[in-house]
Amino acid sequence: MIRFIEKEPYSPIEHSYEVEDILYKGKSKYQEISVIKNPFFGKMLLLDNIVQITERDELFYHEMLTHVLMYAHPNPKRVVVIGGGDGGIVREVLKHKTVEKVYFVEIDDLVIKVSREFFPTVSCAVDDPRVDIKIMDGAEFVKSAKDIDVVIVDSTDVIGFARTLFTKEFFNNVKSAMTENGMFVTHTESLHHHKEVVVEMQESLHRVFPVVDLYTVCIATYPGNWWAFAVGSLKLNPRECRHPFEIDTKFYDDEIHAQSFVTPKFYKKLINRQLQW
Ligand code: SAM
Repeated sequence: MIRFIEKEPYSPIEHSYEVEDILYKGKSKYQEISVIKNPFFGKMLLLDNIVQITERDELFYHEMLTHVLMYAHPNPKRVVVIGGGDGGIVREVLKHKTVEKVYFVEIDDLVIKVSREFFPTVSCAVDDPRVDIKIMDGAEFVKSAKDIDVVIVDSTDVIGFARTLFTKEFFNNVKSAMTENGMFVTHTESLHHHKEVVVEMQESLHRVFPVVDLYTVCIATYPGNWWAFAVGSLKLNPRECRHPFEIDTKFYDDEIHAQSFVTPKFYKKLINRQLQW
């Protein structure tokens, strides 16, 4: 039996998956791309041997990274999705009737191509006429973007070419690109395995956005499982749902929205200590 061993990027931990089939292996200018099949998770997309999505559990991540802000924003019309080459976030964003335009900014067009072929239920909305695909670095895109209501970063880990999406300069450019109720969300690794990354990100956002928050969800296939999302908002509290719950989701709803912002005691302590430095 073949096994795929994933080495966590920041911790001395490995995860092992049985491989039923290797469906694709390729290399772009940016990364190695593979699609394997596991008997439990189904098809899995790997970038540089790190699990990005699986057929079985992609919905938890995609729904939570998208709908929390899409419901917190009173009228999200113009949305930027950075990264997310598999198309899962674009699919979820387009479930909202208010949306008129989605800038889908992915640096690596091969990820979109592979996802179209192997993950049709995830990439199904990328050809919608409201979607404008830009093959470029998201950090460059936001320098000239305007009138954006919601910015969602669905990137690879905070290493390599994704680093540009975690700098103060990037956050400032996101802020300048936004409308008055603008909101921003990015993944910020695991509360369990990467507390330092989580805290650092909150601190960086505090230097740029008036309102900063954090919510979490459990993802079976991401390191540490307890996955965190960092929010920066120009004025509105992201904990509030501002329109009636009506779209088709499997996991996210208004109760999950509220519950996802509950953070444990140790995290609050850590943040307070850091902010006094
Ligand atoms: N949900 C996944 C996770 O958290 O592991 C991420 C999935 S998505 C495939 C990540 C995408 O971000 C990749 O396709 C990668 O090419 C893209 N990406 C990384 N850095 C980027 C950047 N600076 N600008 C635009 N896209 C970027």
